[in-house]
Amino acid sequence: MRKVDVLVIGAGLLGCFTARNLVRYDIDVIVLEQHDDVCRGISKANTGIIYSGYDHKPGSEKYKLCVQANEEFDQLCRDLDVPFKRTGSLMVGYGPAADRVIKKKFNDGLQGGIKGIRLLEDSEAERMEPALRPGITSALYSESTGTVDPWELCIAAYENAASNGAVFVFGAKVISVKRENNGFTIGTESETYHASAVVNAAGLSSDKIREMTESPDVRLYPTSADYIVLDKDSGQTVQHIIFHEGEDGKGLTLVPTVDGNLLIGPDTRPSPEEEIIAEDMRTAAEGFDALRDMCEMVVPGLDLGRQIRTFGSMRPNPFKVYEENGVVLRSDKSIKDIRIMEEDGLLSLIGIKTPGLTFSNVLGRLTADKAASYIGKAELRADFDPVRKGIIRARDLTLGERADMIAKDPGYGEIICSCMDVTASEIRQAIRRGADDFEAIRRRTGCGMGKCQGSRCRKRMMDILRREG
Ligand SMILES: Cc1cc2nc3c(=O)[nH]c(=O)nc-3n(C[C@H](O)[C@H](O)[C@H](O)COP(=O)(O)OP(=O)(O)OC[C@H]3O[C@@H](n4cnc5c(N)ncnc54)[C@H](O)[C@@H]3O)c2cc1C
Repeated sequence: MRKVDVLVIGAGLLGCFTARNLVRYDIDVIVLEQHDDVCRGISKANTGIIYSGYDHKPGSEKYKLCVQANEEFDQLCRDLDVPFKRTGSLMVGYGPAADRVIKKKFNDGLQGGIKGIRLLEDSEAERMEPALRPGITSALYSESTGTVDPWELCIAAYENAASNGAVFVFGAKVISVKRENNGFTIGTESETYHASAVVNAAGLSSDKIREMTESPDVRLYPTSADYIVLDKDSGQTVQHIIFHEGEDGKGLTLVPTVDGNLLIGPDTRPSPEEEIIAEDMRTAAEGFDALRDMCEMVVPGLDLGRQIRTFGSMRPNPFKVYEENGVVLRSDKSIKDIRIMEEDGLLSLIGIKTPGLTFSNVLGRLTADKAASYIGKAELRADFDPVRKGIIRARDLTLGERADMIAKDPGYGEIICSCMDVTASEIRQAIRRGADDFEAIRRRTGCGMGKCQGSRCRKRMMDILRREG
C-alpha cells in the first residue's frame, strides 16, 4: 500500500491547481486521474473566459473568488507562461427583457465594486463591434474580462505542480474510498493508497466519489452544451468577447480566442441519463442548429462555412437531494453558490461550474490550505517555485527571433503543421514533457488544431513520436 499525506482525485483544472498549491507546503501529494493525461474532463471543453465578476451575486463565494482571481490572473499567467488576452467584453441586448437583465447586472456589478464596467450610450456598441446586428438597445462593457486557452492553463498547472514534487498517476480510476486507520484507503484497479486527507476534484463524478464514504446530500444533474470553432480568418469578426442576452433568456457567446479563432457557443440542452453515467461529451445536431440560428440573428454576416471543428461539454449542475423510503430524490432547488464540502479530511469540490476556470488557482489554494491545516501543516516551503516555462512557440516569434532560434535549435526551422505554424522542435519538446499520443501533443503544441485538423501533419507528428518515444 502506498502512503501519502494528501491524495487528490482528478487531474482537471481544480485537481491540478489544488496539487500546485498543496506542494507549497512540505506535503506528499499524489494525484490519481482515470485518463492518460490531464485536462480530459470539463476543463478541456468550456468557453475559456476569465470573468470580471459582475455576473455573480455580490457577497457570494463565487463573486469573491472570481473578483480575486481576475485581479491575480495576469501574474498567474506570467508565472505559468500561459498566453492570456484581456479582450474586454460586451454584453448586448435587443429588447426590453434583455435591457432589464443588463441593467441589473450593471447595478450588481457597481454595488459589488467591480472595476471597469460601464453601460454604453447610443450606438457606441455598434461602433465598437460593427459585425453585430444593428438595433442594440443596451450594452454593458467590462474592461477586465479576458480569455485563455483552458488546456494550456491546466497543463501549465500540472507541470508546475509536478516540478515541485506532486506525483501524478494516470490511467488510475478510483473505484473505492474507505475511512480507515486515521485516514482513508483509496483503491484503483491496480493499487491501494492510504492518505491522511483526500481532495475530491472528480468533476462530473465528484458526487459519486463523495458517496463512497458519505450519505447522499448533493448530486449532479448535468445539461449538455455544444460549441463551434471557426478558422482564424473569422477571429477578427469581433474584437471583444460578446455575450448576447436574448429576449427569451437564451443567448450566444462569441470569443476571439488567444490563438485567433472564433469560438461560438454554448447552447444548453438536456443530457440523457446514459450520457451522465458515461460522462460522454457528445455533440448534437439540434445544439448546432440552435447556435446557427442565434448567429444569424446576432452576427448576420458571419461565414459559418469557416467552421474547423466542434465539441461538446456537460455542465455539472448540483442539486440538494434527500432520501425517502430508501430512494434518493432530487429537490427542486439547484445550488447556486459554490463551497468546499469538508467532512473529516474529505474535501469535495462538487458542481463547480462557471467561473470555475477563472478561479481555479484561487479555489485550488483555498482547498490546499484547508487540507494542509487538517493534517497539521502550516509552514510554507521556502523552495517552492511558482514559475513554469512553456514551450517556445514559433508562431509567437518575430522573423529575427525565429532566425536566432533556428541557429540554436535547427528543429525550429522544420515546419510540421503549416496551418498552426508548429515546428519539429516544439513537438519533440512536448514528447520530452510526457506527451505520448496525438491528442496530448496536439494540446501542448497546437499541431493539428488548424484548418486541416491534422489531415496533413498527423503522420509527420506520429513519425517524430515513434523516433522520440
Ligand atoms: C459548458 C461549460 C462552459 C464553461 N465556461 C467557463 C468559462 O468560460 N470560464 C470559466 O471560468 N469557467 C467555465 N466553466 C467552468 C469550468 O470549465 C469548470 O469549473 C472547471 O473546468 C472544472 O474543473 P474540474 O477539475 O472540476 O473538472 P474536470 O475537468 O472534469 O476534471 C475532473 C477530472 O476527474 C477525473 N475523474 C473523474 N472520476 C474519476 C475517478 N473515479 N478516478 C480518477 N479520476 C477521475 C476526470 O477524468 C477528470 O479529468 C465552464 C463549464 C462548462 C461545463
